[in-house]
Amino acid sequence: MEKLISKITKPKTLKSYPFYDLDEMFVVLPDEKILHEAEKDLPASASGSYLGFCFIDGVPMIAINAFFNKDTNEYELIDDKAFFIAVEQLENLKVSLVKPNKKLMQHPIIQNIRRFYGSIVGVRATRLHRWCDENRIYGQPDIVACFVLDEKKQAVEDLLPIENIKYTGNNTWQGILVCDSDKLQLKRGDKVGLTAMCHKDDNQNLTGSFVVDMGINNEPPKIFIMPYEQEENITRKFYTLSCTSCGYEKTFYLGRGANTEREFGVIASNLNEYGAEPFVQDSLVDAGKVEIDFRRELYYCRHCGQIETKFKTRYILEDHTVSIQYFCSECGESLSQVKPAEIKKLACPNCKETLKIKESGKWDIVPPEDGNYW
Ligand SMILES: [Zn+2]
Ligand SMILES: [Zn+2]
Repeated sequence: MEKLISKITKPKTLKSYPFYDLDEMFVVLPDEKILHEAEKDLPASASGSYLGFCFIDGVPMIAINAFFNKDTNEYELIDDKAFFIAVEQLENLKVSLVKPNKKLMQHPIIQNIRRFYGSIVGVRATRLHRWCDENRIYGQPDIVACFVLDEKKQAVEDLLPIENIKYTGNNTWQGILVCDSDKLQLKRGDKVGLTAMCHKDDNQNLTGSFVVDMGINNEPPKIFIMPYEQEENITRKFYTLSCTSCGYEKTFYLGRGANTEREFGVIASNLNEYGAEPFVQDSLVDAGKVEIDFRRELYYCRHCGQIETKFKTRYILEDHTVSIQYFCSECGESLSQVKPAEIKKLACPNCKETLKIKESGKWDIVPPEDGNYW
């Protein structure tokens, strides 16, 4: 059994969470009879609950991949299998949300889902367009009802359901027809171009709909990825931090390594495989090119005390820069960057005594035992 150190929210019914709050979240599911009715193959949980990973893929689903003991906060992964259940079948169940941590995310099933998610990052970015939520089909957030207008802006047919909508730049989108359209002379599965019609409602909230551009099929542009050229060399410094009280000792390599081409290659291939974060994706499409600045930085978790290095990655676009929020690999809470002057004040993750800087100096290549050695 593995101890879960993530924060767990108070239980609420599943349907009271907006779908985008559930996406890529773990939930604790009570072991109720209804679960067994929903999924006959699910093994009985001796501990009473299950841990599942929510993902929104046309139909919101939960992949149950662990048993969970609410009393001891311990979980046990169900090794090579996951059990998929549609959220709609469980919408009245009371669940708690759990922030994803690295160990849970490493489950092979979850890794596969995340790889698939990388391939649909454009669609996921469109899920953040909350202004069109009213026109999403209930229970199927990827399908949006869209208008078809003639030259006089009159609706030529009923709202058309369109799925897999993704941004293609300059306030245009591309989507896929869910059913045949005689008026458009298009078949189910055909691609259509879309523009947006937005306005502010009485409460100044942005609201609107997608409009089908007749005869136009927008294609997403290719995004060019380049390393950001630093004007000055980034210093690379390592710190070995140790605890005289409990024996904790770890070396952290900060800055940028000697082999930047290899580092950039890994970052660029991650961007190709998993895509940018959905909230960055639309900016990348508009820019068409992005420069990436990266360096190893030290981060600290205020929730569980974990200290770790992360590749701080900044997307540098023509007129602005986007940085990513990092999350603790132990508990899933957000991490705070540690400034150089704060390193000597850090507390030991095990016993909370102040750590000592045992050694520091320059480095070239991070040794393999660091695990993340580029
Ligand atoms: Zn210690
Ligand atoms: Zn943490």
